[in-house]
Formats: sequence, structure tokens, C-alpha cells
Amino acid sequence: SHQIHIIGGGLAGSEAAWQLAQAGFRVRLSEMRGSGDCTPAHQSDGLAELVCSNSFRSDDAESNAVGLLHAEMRALGSLIMGKGDEHRVPAGSALAVDRDGFSAGVTAALEAHPNITIVRERIDTLPADGPTIVATGPLTAPGLAESIGGATGSEALAFFDAIAPIVHFDSVDMDVAWMAARWDKGGKDYINCPMDKDQYLAFHAALLAGEKTEYREWENVPYFEGCMPIEVMAERGVDTLRYGPMKPVGLDNPRTGRWPYAVVQLRQDNAQGTLWNIVGFQTKLKHAEQVRLFRTIPGLENAEFARLGGLHRNTFIRSPELLDPTLRLKAHPHLRFAGQITGCEGYVESAAIGLMAGRFAAAELAGKDLPPPPPETALGALLGHITGGAEAETYQPMNVNFGLFPPIEGRTKKADRKKMYTTRARAALAEWMPA
Ligand code: FAD
Repeated sequence: SHQIHIIGGGLAGSEAAWQLAQAGFRVRLSEMRGSGDCTPAHQSDGLAELVCSNSFRSDDAESNAVGLLHAEMRALGSLIMGKGDEHRVPAGSALAVDRDGFSAGVTAALEAHPNITIVRERIDTLPADGPTIVATGPLTAPGLAESIGGATGSEALAFFDAIAPIVHFDSVDMDVAWMAARWDKGGKDYINCPMDKDQYLAFHAALLAGEKTEYREWENVPYFEGCMPIEVMAERGVDTLRYGPMKPVGLDNPRTGRWPYAVVQLRQDNAQGTLWNIVGFQTKLKHAEQVRLFRTIPGLENAEFARLGGLHRNTFIRSPELLDPTLRLKAHPHLRFAGQITGCEGYVESAAIGLMAGRFAAAELAGKDLPPPPPETALGALLGHITGGAEAETYQPMNVNFGLFPPIEGRTKKADRKKMYTTRARAALAEWMPA
């Protein structure tokens, strides 16, 4: 019989199973595909199927955060990275893979492992006891999602992301923008970018004209008040934004002593204060269009985006308040969560969180303590964001990026700074690495 149950054989569940099996523990891996069930995006019965692009993004471990994450996962014996490397196809400095060969390679390795039993079955309720890792992904089957909602509180489980763009603080022009809260209440919590009438009218017109992403039918996203795309709100009338998220009242511009005609506000997004989200700017404008348009906002002319806006079908829990530092559900610690359902974003990130969930679970089964990797590493930065660094109320999925790392102090050139992050990360990982 098994010692740990993993639900979901995607990127995260496959990696977690591998880590536990390699550590000597017997795993039951439940995957509903192959038992007559499927998700709206998967096409095969293979484990670790890539549902869209075949890219693991940059493989540059010197100056790119996801490249660094690749390197850290390789150092920890990642199956996903091992098979990715084995099935690599040419893609410049990116790591792209032959998707069928990759999925078949992962499936074969797990099937051949003496400690792993793969069961093609759909799980509809969370196990009441016994160590479990839930890794059912952004398209978790509805029955189990309901059970997860029961365990987490339904308001802490989301079915769609409504993502507003996130900006790196050090790319905001604070000679134009200023920090303040409306009516000076509650400190100076927001970054405010002022617009005059002409700028506002031009911005409104550009929102209406901008090219939007079309959705596949199953992604038909219901618009809730409060997370309506900015361009949909703009369609309601020329002044709707000025009376909504771009309301200027109570915001004296220190450079003019007056309220601007309209204002764009940014709210702090992580504990370090390195990342700020544009309040109310969830959008389905195309990415290139977002960059172009949002850089016309005064103060954001040189904005660097940690993430662009979007709306997708995506099941995820409010991890920063629900999970402990080793990914256990605080209310039911026999349950760990891994992969995109924790609110990370991307193949590599999902596998990385699966890797950590597997290692934490293995340590627990062995009666040992495994401290999370330090926040200076890519693994630690991503994990820290999920398990506490992000604002729980506005939590939305995100890729790994240097904005999640403790900032490098002092003035440095941008190119140098990236190298400083990765050099520091390598030293921190070496310190932490289990002997
Ligand atoms: P998955 O890989 O989805 O694995 C979850 C597994 O759990 C699936 O195999 C599923 O069949 C199974 N499962 C679900 N419910 C149950 C149940 N009740 N019982 C048993 N098994 C169950 N990321 C990128 O980096 N690049 C992209 O191009 C990209 N495109 C995406 C496109 C779409 C349409 C979606 C939805 C996501 C995309 N992502 C992309 C985001 C994300 O990286 C992937 O979804 C990734 O596969 C997440 O890994 P995971 O292990 O958390 O979930």
C-alpha cells in the first residue's frame, strides 16, 4: 500500500511523485485522464502534458529568473527538467521541447519506478486523512474543486483569474507620479499617476480601439462587478473610468496643488515593495497593446512589467493565507497543495512547486525538518510569494521574476543587477542544499 497519495499527474504531480519515490517512499498517483475523463485543454492521456506552448522559456541562468529556476531544479534532480533537456528542440536561448516525446518520457519514467503506482481515476473528494498532495491544476475537475472549496472556504477558491498588470517599482518615474492615499487617509499607500483632460480622452479612445484577445468558447469568462476588464468598463461611457478606478477626488498632486482630471493608481503587490499592480486595470487587451498603451500613462513611460493583464479560466486557492511555509493547508495539514492551483503560473513554476511539495512531504515522512529554500533563490522567492509574501486579498497567479526576490540595495546598472541576483542565488542554494 502507498505512503502518500498524489492527486493529478500534470507538471506538478509528476515532479512531486518522482521526488518522493526517489527518496524511497511509495506513491499512489491518481490521474483522471485515461479513465474516460479529460480537462477542456488536455489532448492526450500522457502525464505532464503541455497544454499550449512547448516552451519552458529562457534557459539563461545568469540573467533570467526562470532560467535560474531551471538550474536550481536540475540541481535537485528534477524529472521535468531532466526530460525537458532530453527532448530539447532548437529555440535559441529558450528551452523548448518536443511535447509528445517529453510527455512520453515523463510517463515512462514514472511507470517504471518501483515506488510509484499510477491509477487512472478521478478523485471527487479530498481524502479525510493520510498524507496527500493535491496537484490538479488550473482545470481541476468540478467535484474536487467543490470539495477544495469546502476545506478552504469558498471565497478563498477562485475559478477565474482577473489579472491587472504588475509594474516593477524601480521603473516608475516618481518625478511625475507621487505617493498618497485619497484624502490623505491611511498614509501614503498608493502610487498616483496624473492625467489631464486631453490625456484622459486619448487614453479612453485607445482602450476602445485596442486589440483584445479572443476567447475559446469554454473560457467564456463571466464579468463580476469588481473585476470587469478596464476596456469593458470604458465602453459604458466616456466618464465611467473617471468615476470608477481612475477617480481623482481627494488626490492633490503635490506639483500643482490640485486634483488631476483623472488618476491611475498602483497598489503595493508584495511584501518587499518591489512590485505594484495597477488598480482596476484587469484586461484582455493583447500583451503588446498593453505595453504600448500603459506606457502612455504619465509616470509609466518606462514601466517594466513583471506581468501583463489577462482573464483566464483558472482554479486556484488563496495560498498566502491558507498554506504554511511547507505548502500544507493550515486547517488540514495532511493536505499539501502543489502546482498552478497554489497560484503560481507556468509549466516550470508548477513543476518547481511540485518539486518542493514532494521534498517537504518526503522530509515529513522521514521525521525530519526541511526548511524552505532561502528567499534569495528562485525556488525560495517563488515559494515565499505563494506562502506569505503576496497580498492575500488581491492574490493572482504570477510567473517567477526578480521582483519576487529580496531587492539588491544600491544603484546598479540593470544588466549588472540581474547577474547579482543570480550570483547571490547560487551561493544561497549551495548553503541550503541537502548534503
Ligand atoms: P496540470 O498540468 O493541468 O495537471 C493537473 C492534472 O490533474 C491534469 O493531468 C488533470 O487531468 C488532473 N486532474 C484534474 N482534476 C482531477 C481529479 N479530480 N482527479 C484526478 N486527476 C485530476 N503555462 C506555460 O508555461 N506556458 C503555456 O503556454 C501555458 N498555456 C496554458 C494554456 C491553458 C489553456 C491553461 C489552462 C494553462 C496554461 N499554462 C501555460 C499554465 C500552466 O503552466 C499549466 O496549466 C500547467 O500545466 C500547470 O501545471 P499543474 O501540474 O499545476 O496542472
